[in-house]
Order: sequence, then structure tokens, then C-alpha cells
Amino acid sequence: MAQLTTELIHHPYVPPEGFAAPQPGVFKASTVFFPTVADMRSREWKDKTAYTYGLHGTPTTYALEERLCTLEGGLQCVLVPSGLAAIANVALSLLKTGDEVLIPDNAYGPNKALAEGELRQWGITHQFYDPMDPLDLEAQISSRTRLVWVEAAGSVTLEFPDLVALVRICKNRGVPVALDNTWGAGLAFKPFDLLPDVEPGFGVDISAHALTKYPSGGGDVLMGSVITRDAGLHMRLKLTHMRLGLGIGANDAEAVLRALPSMALRYRAHDESTRALAQWCQMQPEFVQVLHPALQDSPGHAHWKALCANGWGGAAGLVSVLIDPRYSQAQTDAFCNALQLFKIGYSWGGPISLVVPYDLATMRSAWPAHLKTGTLVRFSVGLEAVVDLQADLARAMKKTLI
Ligand SMILES: *Cc1c(COP(=O)(O)O)cnc(C)c1O
Repeated sequence: MAQLTTELIHHPYVPPEGFAAPQPGVFKASTVFFPTVADMRSREWKDKTAYTYGLHGTPTTYALEERLCTLEGGLQCVLVPSGLAAIANVALSLLKTGDEVLIPDNAYGPNKALAEGELRQWGITHQFYDPMDPLDLEAQISSRTRLVWVEAAGSVTLEFPDLVALVRICKNRGVPVALDNTWGAGLAFKPFDLLPDVEPGFGVDISAHALTKYPSGGGDVLMGSVITRDAGLHMRLKLTHMRLGLGIGANDAEAVLRALPSMALRYRAHDESTRALAQWCQMQPEFVQVLHPALQDSPGHAHWKALCANGWGGAAGLVSVLIDPRYSQAQTDAFCNALQLFKIGYSWGGPISLVVPYDLATMRSAWPAHLKTGTLVRFSVGLEAVVDLQADLARAMKKTLI
């Protein structure tokens, strides 16, 4: 007989097989056991046929990877600790000293910051292109370009680019194209199949997704994914992922697995409320411009319609307004402070509506020609009743925009 401490660790009881329930089990591990040394030497984790170490995958992370591939129409997936880590994983896999990356001028800010920080420090250059002008992208691609980022709609300003044209240029020039697919989320359009009726399989090479937003849906999890349809490209991403040690926790994976089944319903609910609110915003004289791709006169509306109006035409849960410049920044800040249901906070995709004022002039190389002058405020519309959100906006406007 072994000692009690040992027995409590090496206990012979094994629960019966046959437990089945709605949610998959949550497997937590750094260490994974091997029955023999020979087995340890022979196991292969790279193709998900076995387990070797928590960082290289567990049943829980494999299950989440497969479901995310289904969501986005991809074949392989890498999970990382945040959406920004997904962006970084892509950049660090594909770029080396002397290379150049092209980023849309309206990209998610920290993507630009990575280029201006670490990438520059390592001798990797970058250029910002005008996402609304495919010819500008075409002109900026050089023999050093090794990665092009695209984003639809653009972060904060929500212009919708001609994604098909941008991807076509990259394909013609043989440059890998990566989409930040957080807004579309696999629901508004299919990133690996942008022209399903005309040219099946035409799409981006890589889709990076902040699962922090719609897939998590709770405002309480940080996670990202990098999805591909090319095994070689995936292996480059996966090896970088392994060497950098970008693992995720099992509890976070569980939270996303639990939220995924309701994701399409939530996305649609956010979408419907946001459209209603965007239309209401258009009628307010205090707002000189309302940015939401499904609005007829929003920049890039025709591109959104061409890409997303297949099916039900998803447009996510974000709307931005430009407040008339006759109101001061202090008044805009007071307006945001006066909101009660809209909380002041970054991110989106959760049940609670959020508001952020942005200083657009500091975020862009130049003030975009398609935007009027004004102070930008972005709303992330949660799952509250839209009449209450509208009343909240009206009350705060009446109090502060005078
Ligand atoms: C939030 C966001 C990210 C980053 O996600 P985190 O998980 O917060 O790091 C990347 N891209 C877009 C478009 C986002 O909105």
C-alpha cells in the first residue's frame, strides 16, 4: 500500500463512460501524460492527432478551433490570448527584416502601433494606404511587401472598402492578404468565399478575429483566432504561435464555447437595434454625419451591400456619429458622461451599450475626404431595448448639446 498522500494523487477510480451533456468537457492542462516514453517520442501535436502539452492543445481548445473554422469557413485555426495577439501572430509569422507591411489608414489602432513600434524596431517597414482607393493599395505594393491587412468595416469610422477589389490586387501581386474580421465575425460575409456565386473560393488568405467581441459576447473574455485555408500558411502561423507561447486558458475557451451557439442570434439583435438607432441619429441636427455601412449615404455603402446583402445582410452593432463642430470637445465629453445606459468603455459585442469619443485627427494620416468635420463618437449597441437607448441619447443630448 502506498502512503495516503500518494494514494490521493494516484487514485484508481475512473468515472464510467457515457456522460453526455450540452457543453463539452473542460480539460485543463499544462502537463499531459504519456503511457510510455516511446509514445511520448512518437506523438504529433501539429495536426491535432494527439496531445503533448497544454500549450499545444487540449480537447477543449481543439473543439473551439474546429467550431471557429466552421464559423468563418476556414480549415485551420490558431487560438491566442487576445485579438491583438492574433494580429501580432500574423505579423511575426510573415514578416522579417527588410520586409514591408501595408495597413489601411482606418485600421484598428493597435495594429498601426505594432507597426510603428516593434516592427519598425526590427527593420520591418510599413505604409498606410487609403482603404477606399484600391489604386492607392496597388501603387504601394512593392517587391518588399510581404503582408497586406484589410478591414471591413474600418475601425471607428466604419467605412466599407471594396474588399473584393483589395483582395484581388493582393492575389494578382502574389502578396498574402490578412483580414481583421472582428466586425464581420464570420456572419456578415464569408472571408474565404467573397464571391460565392461567381468565383467560389476567392477570398483572403488569413482571417484574424477578436473573439473578445461577438464570439465571447460577454465583455469578460479576451481571446483571438487566426484562421486559414492553406496548410502551409497555417503551419507557419502555428510554429510562431508555439515559439512565442501564446496559449489560452481552458476557462476562457469554455466561456467562448458556451457563447458560440447564441452568437448569430446576438449578432442579429445587435444589428437590428443599431440600424434603428443609426436611422434615428440621422434625424438629429446635432449630428452632421452618421457612419453605419447599411445607411445609404454612409461611405462605402454600395460595397457593403454588394458583399453583405447576400443572406440577411449583417452590419454588426457599431454606429459612429460626427457631432456638429459648433459644439466643443468639452460638450461632447459631457454628452458621453451624461449617458446612463451607454457606459464609457472600449470594446464591443457584449450586452451593455458602450460609448467612446475619439480624436480622429490624431488617428489618421489625413482627415478622410468622405468625412465631414466634427467630433467623432462611437456607440457600441448592446442588447438593451432600443427605445430605452434612444431615450438615453435624447436625454443626454438635451442636457449637453445646447
Ligand atoms: C477589439 C479589436 C481587436 C483586438 O481585440 P482584443 O482582444 O481587445 O485585443 C482587433 N481588431 C478589432 C477590429 C477590434 O475591434
